[in-house]
Amino acid sequence: MAVAARGLTKHFYRNGLRRTALDGVSFSVRDRERLVILGPSGAGKTTLLRVIAGLERADEGSLFVDDRDAGALPAEDRRVAIVFDRDGLFPHLTLRQNLAFPLRGDRHRNDRIEAAAHDLGIAAHLHKRPGELSAGERQRASLARAILSDPSVLLLDEPLSHLEPSLRSQVRRAFLAFSGSFGGAVVHVTHDHAEALTSGDRLAVMIGGRILQCDEPQRVYDYPANTSVARFFGTPPMNLIDDGMETLGIRPENVRLHNGGSLRGRVTAVESTGADAFVRMDTPRGELIARIPAAAVPRVGEEISATLPREHVRRFDRTAGTAIA
Ligand code: ATP
Repeated sequence: MAVAARGLTKHFYRNGLRRTALDGVSFSVRDRERLVILGPSGAGKTTLLRVIAGLERADEGSLFVDDRDAGALPAEDRRVAIVFDRDGLFPHLTLRQNLAFPLRGDRHRNDRIEAAAHDLGIAAHLHKRPGELSAGERQRASLARAILSDPSVLLLDEPLSHLEPSLRSQVRRAFLAFSGSFGGAVVHVTHDHAEALTSGDRLAVMIGGRILQCDEPQRVYDYPANTSVARFFGTPPMNLIDDGMETLGIRPENVRLHNGGSLRGRVTAVESTGADAFVRMDTPRGELIARIPAAAVPRVGEEISATLPREHVRRFDRTAGTAIA
């Protein structure tokens, strides 16, 4: 196993108060596997990566990298590379010198630098310093440098979050194509829900220092393990409705609006995304959001009714919040 964590716990103390950043986190990632970690701000995502990288010590739990006890190893001996949201390139060195940094003593250094730069579309910039590159080019260079250090585990901490949206998807594709040939494990932290669905083999949803669900991304989307995951994952997230016996969950795109539906309500807002629109309605059981084609939207204030098709309804225990199979 490239990386295996068991019961990682980490507290921070500030002004006499204890804050639990990691609360018994366990997971493992195989070679060539990409695990995405999605969670709200303050969930403990960065702390987890810093513990894996050896920049922070866990108070409890164990961590194995390449089946070696990493807890006992200093950061530089762990074979873990990390790419942050801001590039960590040396500003006074050219791109070629930056990429050569982890390759001291490697006879094939130039070939490897050129191959990586070519794969990431930055080959024409090798003579430039980071200040002469765009943000996207610098992020691609950071990724190349991290992979050229031959890590067993590559940690990505929101590497695209400071890029503008169109550049983000372009750099994401370059990242995926390039890191696809990487033989180690990738742990990719994001708070972008679309990125979480498309960038990993498995998705771990982390809230309040705990991993609440870890599974194939589409499965997490379709079958949230509990109401906390359902309430968090998706933009907007799953509708949750109390039917008196259980909590029912349904994704907005699965709600049907039509005459004669069983759940009546009044439209409170219509938000177009271009092709589709989100229709918010107030019902006796709370707010319901439906995603429908923008061409067919009702007016605000209109009385409408909705149906929740049984095959799309997920059921959760009303008290514990856990999914009912
Ligand atoms: P974000 O998405 O905003 O980056 P995150 O999920 O990465 O958030 P962390 O940065 O890991 O969250 O923080 C988890 C918790 O630990 C937060 O409550 C944070 O305030 C606290 N924390 C993190 N680092 C420290 C520190 N050095 N000292 C004190 N508290 C810290």
